[in-house]
Amino acid sequence: MAPVSALSDTGALCYYIDMFITPHTSAAIWISTKVTDPVLAFAFGLISHFILDIIPHGDEDIGSHKKTKRGRFIYMMKVATVDVILSVVLVYFYITRHQDYNRPAMAGAIVGAWLPDVAWIVIENFKMTALYWYIVWHGRIHNAFNWRYSPVYGVPFQIIVTLLILKVSY
Ligand SMILES: [Zn+2]
Repeated sequence: MAPVSALSDTGALCYYIDMFITPHTSAAIWISTKVTDPVLAFAFGLISHFILDIIPHGDEDIGSHKKTKRGRFIYMMKVATVDVILSVVLVYFYITRHQDYNRPAMAGAIVGAWLPDVAWIVIENFKMTALYWYIVWHGRIHNAFNWRYSPVYGVPFQIIVTLLILKVSY
């Protein structure tokens, strides 16, 4: 997911999608199986977010088939909604199947894994211009390898990554 719009380096508003939040959520679940301390889990959740973001993940062009900016925005909102629901379902399934799960560690890891994108959305929507450097920086992390590829490969790639992380978590 999830920030559906982002400031480009020039300050002009452009729309593109960040990595889906679902792979980040699966990473948080995995972290909660390894770490018991919630603060540490939060820190690892944060780190895992940026590690996953750095890996070229082929979703920048999602919605580019839509002709208008508004059309693309609406399309992305739908994609983001499915993404968030999927994340919640993942966590729900995990905690209902693992009664012994570490609740504080799970909460810490999820907050850490989601915060970078939530911060992005909040900063942008409330036009917190003093923090725009963060959006630019987060965008740079995404483009660290400067390699874009089609969502045709990117979406299956993210699904596979999510499933692999879940497999080692269960
Ligand atoms: Zn991100």
